[in-house]
Amino acid sequence: MKYKIALIRGDGIGPEIVNETVKVIDRVGEKFGHTFEYVDVLLGGCATDAVGVSYPEGTADRCKSCDAVLLGAVGGPKWGSDKPAEQRPETALLAIRKDLGLYANLRPAALRPALMDACPLKRETAERGIDLLMVRELTGGIYFGKRDKYQTEDRGMEATDLMAYSEKEIERIGRRAFEMARLRRKKVSSVDKANVLETSRLWRSMMHRLAKEYADVAYEDVLVDNCAMQLVRDPGQFDVVVTENMFGDILSDEASMITGSIGLLPSASMGDGAPALYEPIHGSAPDIAGQDKANPIATILSAAMMFRYSFQLAEEANAVEAAVDKALAEGWRTADIAKPGEAIIGTRRMGEIIREHI
Ligand code: NAD
Repeated sequence: MKYKIALIRGDGIGPEIVNETVKVIDRVGEKFGHTFEYVDVLLGGCATDAVGVSYPEGTADRCKSCDAVLLGAVGGPKWGSDKPAEQRPETALLAIRKDLGLYANLRPAALRPALMDACPLKRETAERGIDLLMVRELTGGIYFGKRDKYQTEDRGMEATDLMAYSEKEIERIGRRAFEMARLRRKKVSSVDKANVLETSRLWRSMMHRLAKEYADVAYEDVLVDNCAMQLVRDPGQFDVVVTENMFGDILSDEASMITGSIGLLPSASMGDGAPALYEPIHGSAPDIAGQDKANPIATILSAAMMFRYSFQLAEEANAVEAAVDKALAEGWRTADIAKPGEAIIGTRRMGEIIREHI
């Protein structure tokens, strides 16, 4: 098969980690008989330097001409908040997500067996394994609701943020979660605050409707406060966790912390009818850019997600994940995941070793 991938290399360590990932993708192509074609897309601080704006015209169309988008990272002190919005990398990130209609954010939190020591939870909890997928609604809820701030007569200033969700918005993110669960261990935990919030009660009733439709997938309701607790008590119980925007923002950070390093965690953002976007959860790490120090694993695992979810190439995704686990099991470490005294390798060598294991 032939696949076309838009590459947004971005700023800081972005180009280095994307470079290693592209070579991993090509290795998968060789081994499994696929052809990958790349379209370079300029976005972020590097675009500001090249053409004066961080989100050049035609960026979304170039991405839409591809089957998936792979992004390294964007941003850096050079394009800080003193610059006009159109020159700032963050503006471009929000714009591309909006233009591709990416309403579902997927963040797996999987504890790599070789890095069990990096898990801050009890050893016996870590040993039971952690492999969950957070599915967060990304374009609705309180972050996008009407906000207001006004003077009252007797209570000083008052502020409000409106949390609103429509059935349509809940249904599409819910379907995503059930579809993802079918590709995994077939369990959905839907997180809400239905004992207090009207939006959560609507959320829950829609999820129950979907649960009947996806009868092959196990389903449970979890209150958000309980979920925060369960994530540190027994994260192994979760497979797919679906929730609204703000709860997901908080819980996905909690879930990533229980698995150790920031340099290991991939993510995906998806919409309907446009290519999905895959990226590591970390930023552009300007402090180590250009020094062959960045850990490329989060980006390489993002490519594995791309194989699984955009191209339905599960075997290829498994091969990449297994190669990462093998490299880690053999003791190869970049600086961010090394314990004191352990030997350290660079970005390029880590990429090379992972490729050798595919
Ligand atoms: P960061 O994730 O870039 O870095 C935080 C720390 O983690 C740094 O010490 C960095 O060296 C380290 N680190 C991050 N990724 C690493 C990797 N792959 N290997 C080894 N070490 C790694 O976060 P920050 O410092 O808050 O932000 C730096 C820039 O990145 C900012 O301009 C920010 O806006 C941007 N950013 C971009 C994205 C994105 O592109 N989606 C996300 C977050 C931050």
